[in-house]
Amino acid sequence: MVYKQFQDLQLSALGMGAMRLPVIDKNDEKIDEEATAKMVKYAIEEGINYFDTAWGYHGGHSELVMGKVLSEYPRESFYLASKFPGYDLANMPKVEEIFEKQLEKCRVSYFDFYLFHNVCEMNINEYLDEKYGIFEYLMKQKEDGRIRHLGFSAHGSVEVMRRFLEAYGKHMEFCQIQLNYVDWKFQEADAKVELLKEYGIPVWVMEPLRGGTLASLSEENTEKLKALRPEEKTPAWAFRYLQTIPEVVVTLSGMSNYEQLEENLHTFENEKPLDPKEMETILGIADSMVNGVPCTSCHYCTSHCPQGIDIPSMLKLYNEHSFTGGGFIAPMALMAVPEDKQPSACVGCRSCEAVCPQQIKISEVLEDFSGMLKG
Ligand code: SF4
Ligand code: SF4
Repeated sequence: MVYKQFQDLQLSALGMGAMRLPVIDKNDEKIDEEATAKMVKYAIEEGINYFDTAWGYHGGHSELVMGKVLSEYPRESFYLASKFPGYDLANMPKVEEIFEKQLEKCRVSYFDFYLFHNVCEMNINEYLDEKYGIFEYLMKQKEDGRIRHLGFSAHGSVEVMRRFLEAYGKHMEFCQIQLNYVDWKFQEADAKVELLKEYGIPVWVMEPLRGGTLASLSEENTEKLKALRPEEKTPAWAFRYLQTIPEVVVTLSGMSNYEQLEENLHTFENEKPLDPKEMETILGIADSMVNGVPCTSCHYCTSHCPQGIDIPSMLKLYNEHSFTGGGFIAPMALMAVPEDKQPSACVGCRSCEAVCPQQIKISEVLEDFSGMLKG
């Protein structure tokens, strides 16, 4: 395992994200505890010491399961991160209640790392609003040793991040952003890394594989990569790319099964950053891929939909349908979806859009999708 120095700690360069744990019956809230425990055991044996959960992952069950599984290990043997769920404005007045509950759910007396979750356009005013006292409360927890390191994750624009940093930047010790070779330009990750550098804040990476999109590429793009490094698997390229960016400390990967974990561990046995030609190739591939709706399957939106539409699945099918220019895959998959959960069931209320970190105009996409399906 590659380790990175962060202050006086040695963090594993690969962290285990707990937002896409193995589940039972495809139910996001029914985490397969046995499979998770097996993965955590293997991760620890192979040197991963960083685990990242959050209040909202798996409908609130991620913290519970990770807490239970990690309680089998000495507290000092792992670093645990969780986050204040400000992606839902209803949580803003509840920082104390939520933080206390999180410690309880995770069966710990302190978090090694704690983040303002998902700083973005939708919540920046509230995050900065002193009336909620979130910053003050978290700083107090830090003083009391219940938070060892305070940081934030951001899906917002560079401008939003700048506003946050102007207010709290000197107290932020790390920042988690969506970074991968597609988002380097597409989501301005390059400018975000530069901004964080101004504040001397190291980068934690989320979505290194962009919700799995970078785990398998088109045949043409796969061939381009194979020509450069015949032995490297496609997902490893995404991690090698990140190993080239010096500001990156921890790369979080939400692994859903043992095989993914094994493969990622293998990649992080050593560092093999890209050379300039490889970098040019991968950024060229990124350019060629940027189309479709950038949904990362984070599931933040689903609980906000009054129609109970499985939005990420619909968007995935929409991308497939658009990318293929029609075809049978999406219509076939939709045959298994009840009428009242189809894209056409969207009533355009836009509740989902208020919480979407990717700022996807979901209602418009579903309307478009519905039209395409009608032909
Ligand atoms: S806009 Fe459509 S998909 Fe979004 S929450 Fe409303 S009904 Fe659901
Ligand atoms: S539409 Fe947005 S909020 Fe919903 S799963 Fe996709 S990225 Fe997440």
